[in-house]
Amino acid sequence: MQKTVAFSKHATNVFFHILTQCNLTCKHCYINPAHHGKKKLDLATIAAWLAVFVKKSPSANVIFLGGEPTLHPDLPLAVNKAKDLGYQSITIDTNGYLFNDILAKVTPRMVDYFSFSLDGATRKTNDAIRGEGSYDTCINGIKKAVHKGFSTSLIYTVSKINLHELTAMEPLVKELGIDRFFIQVIGIRGRSAAVGRDRLQVSRSEWLDIIPRAAEKIARTGITVVYPKVFLRTDEPFECAGLVAENYFIFPNGRVYRCPLCEDFPLHSELFDDNRLIDTPKINEKDLFNLNVPEGCVMNKLIQPGNLVYNRDGTPQYKIACCMLKEEVSGSNSTL
Ligand code: SF4
Ligand code: SF4
Repeated sequence: MQKTVAFSKHATNVFFHILTQCNLTCKHCYINPAHHGKKKLDLATIAAWLAVFVKKSPSANVIFLGGEPTLHPDLPLAVNKAKDLGYQSITIDTNGYLFNDILAKVTPRMVDYFSFSLDGATRKTNDAIRGEGSYDTCINGIKKAVHKGFSTSLIYTVSKINLHELTAMEPLVKELGIDRFFIQVIGIRGRSAAVGRDRLQVSRSEWLDIIPRAAEKIARTGITVVYPKVFLRTDEPFECAGLVAENYFIFPNGRVYRCPLCEDFPLHSELFDDNRLIDTPKINEKDLFNLNVPEGCVMNKLIQPGNLVYNRDGTPQYKIACCMLKEEVSGSNSTL
């Protein structure tokens, strides 16, 4: 069954980059030290910042990210802290290297999901994007996590380099016992902005032809597959998550964004100052969210105008959806 998932207007989602350091140098990495810093937060700061967001909502979810978050030796203590504070769910996003013996230091009762990033069904394709040896390490990491009873997700960031292998993920997902599969659209920020949009981003027709069918195929293994909607017809409703949802993207230099597309710019709407969350002065991302443009997402129009196509009268042929609007295909184990 396929459905569009509107942003949750009741849950607070905290995407917490506890450090920016990473052992890999993926071609599409969105971390940008000029805007996200190079700090590793200490445990006291992580705890203080977690406490700020859980107060906003009794049903807050936290996703620990990096860099590679398992490089942080205090990640298990940060997970404990989030649990004690009452976070509804805790996810660790990882490239699969699982440093600091993390699987031995947390339990499936503490961590709801380990979310692994793999960008190819084959060693060759994945390693061309994520680096030599990363495929085997990630697969081994998934096997270990599943063996220990953890729920796992797989994140596949689609680009021109790996689009052709997306459907080939189906047997791998089944074999590994993955619980959820997330297809991501490549963000043209950080390192991918340097590589160039034309070499990485798939076209609208490629996206519409391949992604929904691939998602259905993978969902037939019985799991849930989620992918960004990306394109809207001009008569479909548009909403900006920055205005209607509670998503916070926190970086170790204290910047707090409400929109991931703004992360390559000093447009963050909030900032941690001495562990207090303060509003930043104008102009920031919130001023942009309120601009009502016929093309849909205003940030896409500003930073990725090549994604848009116009009619002769100047009206857009379609709208770009908020990057946080998702399609969800529930697994049915059907053989359709
Ligand atoms: S994309 Fe993730 S795993 Fe790859 S270099 Fe960036 S932080 Fe590391
Ligand atoms: S991606 Fe676009 S629509 Fe979504 S929060 Fe950012 S500016 Fe708003």
